Amino acid sequence: MTALLGLDLTDRRVLVVGGGPVCARRATALLTEGARIRLVAPYLCEDLAALADVGAVDWQAREVTASDLDHVWLAHTATGDRAVDADVARWAEERRVWCVVASEATTGTARTPATAREGELVIGVVSEGAPDPGRVAAVRDSVAEHLRDGADLRRRRRVPGTPGHVVLVGGGPGAVDLLTLRARRALAEADVVVTDRLGPRSVLEQLSSSVEVIDVGKTPGHHPVPQHEINRILVEQAQRGRSVVRLKGGDPFVYGRGGEEVLACREAGVPVEVVPGISSALAVPAAAGIPLTHRGTVAAVHVVNGHDGLDESACVAMRDRSATVVVLMGVSALATMAAEALEHGADPQTPVAIVERGTTPTQRVTRGPLAEIAGLAREAGVRAPAIVVIGDVAAPGLLEPSADAMLVP
Ligand code: SAH
Repeated sequence: MTALLGLDLTDRRVLVVGGGPVCARRATALLTEGARIRLVAPYLCEDLAALADVGAVDWQAREVTASDLDHVWLAHTATGDRAVDADVARWAEERRVWCVVASEATTGTARTPATAREGELVIGVVSEGAPDPGRVAAVRDSVAEHLRDGADLRRRRRVPGTPGHVVLVGGGPGAVDLLTLRARRALAEADVVVTDRLGPRSVLEQLSSSVEVIDVGKTPGHHPVPQHEINRILVEQAQRGRSVVRLKGGDPFVYGRGGEEVLACREAGVPVEVVPGISSALAVPAAAGIPLTHRGTVAAVHVVNGHDGLDESACVAMRDRSATVVVLMGVSALATMAAEALEHGADPQTPVAIVERGTTPTQRVTRGPLAEIAGLAREAGVRAPAIVVIGDVAAPGLLEPSADAMLVP
C-alpha cells in the first residue's frame, strides 16, 4: 500500500541522479520546494546545465556511487540506464532513504505525486501498482480546477486581529473564468466586497454568506455612488479591521479610477494592494476574434475613452492607419467620434467593429465602415458596455484563410 506524506524539504539534501529532462523537471520542482540538491551525472541537458551554472544545484560531474546516498533525505533517479537506476534504488534501500525511480516506479520506494497548489493547500495524487501518469494528472487537474472554480471561495481563512487592508482586484471583462487565481484568493479572504456593475459579478454568488457585498455600481450617465464616497467606504471598512476587496471590471488601472482609490487609502494610512486584471480593452476584441495587432496589418494600439472625444493622436492613427484605435465607453459618443475622425481625413471605409458584453454569453459584434457605423449601431440597438475597435484589424474575415491558402495541400 502507498501512503501519501507532505514532506518539508526546506534545506534538506535531496539526491538527483541523471542529467536529462526528467531530472531537470524534478530538480526545478524540488528547488521550488526548498530542497538542496546534489546532482550526480556525467553530462547535463541544457536546463540542468543552466541550474548548475548559477549554482542552484551542487553538480558532481561523474557516475553515481553508493556513497552519494549517504546523508540525503530523499533520492530521485532517472539515468536512462535501468541497471544504474536499480543500483541507486538498492543503495537507497540499504540506507533507508526513500527513492523515486522515474523510469520504473514499482522498483522505487517512493513516487512523485502529480501536484497542484491553491493558496496554502497542496494537492497530491499518486497511483498504486502500475503507474498511470495520465489518469493521475487528470485527477489532479480536475481537483485543482474545482478549487479554482470557487469551491475555495466558501472557505475563507483570515488571521483574526490582523489590521484591515484594501485589495483592488481587477476582475476581468466579465466571464467568471477570466478571473485570475490571485483575484480568487483575495476574494476568498475578503470580509467585505465593494463591487462594480461591470466585471464578473456572478462570482459574488459564490462568496460565503458571511461576506458583506456593497454594490457601488455605476450605470452610464448615472453615478449612484460618487467616487469620493467609494473611497470613504473603502477606508472606513479597512479601518474597522476588515479585509476589503474592491472588485472592478477589467484592470483597476485602465479607466477604473483605481489610482484615486489607491491614493485615498494611502492618505488614510490604509495598506492597499493591486491585483492586475484582464482589461476589456485587450480581452474583448480577442474574444470577438479581432487581433489588435497583426503582422503586416498594424503594429500599434491606441486606447481611448469615448467620453472625452478623440484626441489628436487617435485621429492621426486613424487617418494614417498607423494604429488600431480601441475606444472604451464609446457607445453614446459613437456618432460624434466617427464624424470627428472623418473630418480629420480618416477613410470612410475604415473598418469598425463594436463588441458588446464581451466574454459573456450575450456577446454581440456589429461591424461596418466608419462612415456608416453610427447608423448601423443605432439600428442594431447597440448598448454599453461595448468596446469599439477602429482600424484594418476590424475588417470582417481578417482571420479567415483565403480560398487560395485553403487549396495548398
Ligand atoms: N477597467 C475596465 C474599464 C472600465 S471603463 C477594464 O480594464 O476593462 C468601462 C468600459 O469598459 C465600458 O464602457 C466598456 O467600454 C468597457 N467594457 C468593460 N467590460 C466590457 C465587456 N465585457 N464588453 C465590452 N466592453 C466592456
